[in-house]
Amino acid sequence: MSEEKKIPYKIYLNENEMPTRWYNVRSDMKNKPAPLINPGTKEPMGFDDLRPVFCDELIKQELDNDTAYFDIPQKILDFYKMYRPSPLVRAYCLEEALGTPAKIYYKFEGNNTSGSHKLNSAIAQAYYAKEQGLKGLTTETGAGQWGTALSMACAYLGLDLKVFMVKVSYEQKPFRREVMRTYGASVTPSPSMETQIGKKINAEHPGTTGSLGCAISEAVEVATTNEGYRYVLGSVLNQVLLHQSIIGLETKAALDKYGIVPDMIIGCAGGGSNLGGLIAPFMGEKLRGEKDYRIIAVEPASCPSFTRGVYAYDFCDTGMVCPLAKMYTLGSDFIPSANHAGGLRYHGMSPILSQLYADGYMEAVSVEQTSVFEAATKFARTEGILPAPESSHAIKVAMDEALKCKETGEEKTIVFGLTGTGYFDLVAYQKYNDGEMTDYIPTDEDLKKSIANLPPM
Ligand SMILES: *Cc1c(COP(=O)(O)O)cnc(C)c1O
Repeated sequence: MSEEKKIPYKIYLNENEMPTRWYNVRSDMKNKPAPLINPGTKEPMGFDDLRPVFCDELIKQELDNDTAYFDIPQKILDFYKMYRPSPLVRAYCLEEALGTPAKIYYKFEGNNTSGSHKLNSAIAQAYYAKEQGLKGLTTETGAGQWGTALSMACAYLGLDLKVFMVKVSYEQKPFRREVMRTYGASVTPSPSMETQIGKKINAEHPGTTGSLGCAISEAVEVATTNEGYRYVLGSVLNQVLLHQSIIGLETKAALDKYGIVPDMIIGCAGGGSNLGGLIAPFMGEKLRGEKDYRIIAVEPASCPSFTRGVYAYDFCDTGMVCPLAKMYTLGSDFIPSANHAGGLRYHGMSPILSQLYADGYMEAVSVEQTSVFEAATKFARTEGILPAPESSHAIKVAMDEALKCKETGEEKTIVFGLTGTGYFDLVAYQKYNDGEMTDYIPTDEDLKKSIANLPPM
């Protein structure tokens, strides 16, 4: 016990111990993630094909399967220093409350105004757009965390920003919308009547509350039809996982300081960016055969791409204007029930994580939202932090694993990603507290329908 306590509640790195390079896990993968392909020609998309949509430097990062490390530009490092390094917390209070011999650590990414890890990639993407001399960016946002993060990044660099926000969140989360507007972004509920694709989706699904897939289509349309604008995406893409590797590199540096070796690493998975970032250096060791870790992705039972989806080429968006990506998917016209973890309501999954999952390097589980909020509440009452519903998926499984250790007496070391805070999710907490939260799980029939519409290859 006394030796144990030598590990502080919070392991901070000094500024000069912060990673100065991002790590590209693809460099160590034998089976590389499948390339994005053109939906028309079915050919892999190269640099020139992607230029109308994405910024040049980001395309290079997207397509680079071989370079192991990318230097983080100084201006991005300076921005990171405003809110990083983020703490790695030893959850002593939670361990005690659970009565588990397991040692639980969490990497907390909620210490910035946007309230999540998304700022790590937002600032990188905005930086390369600015360097390219662009006027502005367009994007989609689900729960609002990505839009908020990008608004902060664009304000810092003096870029214009147009955000399409999934309608259900726009209505449920007016305060997020106001944070974005305060940072200078314009925010439009999606599907809107401002784009061709928005009009079409509204006509085909009257009264729809939208989805990330719809909002992506709208944002891409606006970027490609306005001079000096490009589209940026907050998850799924290889470049986003690259930027998010800062989470894992810091985590590893902090653990190494105290000689701690985790047995398992757990993270929630929406499009896969926080999990991909958190596990990156550990997965690198695993791929190189140096170490072994259990790696667990946690997804909502209402949107179970890993656990019930298929591994196939699919559209990244509902409007079918984006490239096709090979990933675990529920079908691009799958619109999940209005569950409260908005950041996890995406039909697909990062191609990198999809390949790693297909190759057996990681596991996945799905959990129901009432059990997630039960875990969130327990966590808030013991560790003090009010967690985001998305992050609480990881909390739930970390607690489950810690309780298994209680039964077996094993002192396993568990690390999980606490991706953000839940201050803007209080409608969800209200539903839970009032006993009005339900668990909607799609039937096999529901999934069959959307999976049947995968593009023919
Ligand atoms: C967006 C978001 C997620 C899910 O996105 P990933 O790309 O899978 O990381 C998880 N937690 C929070 C707080 C988010 O904002």
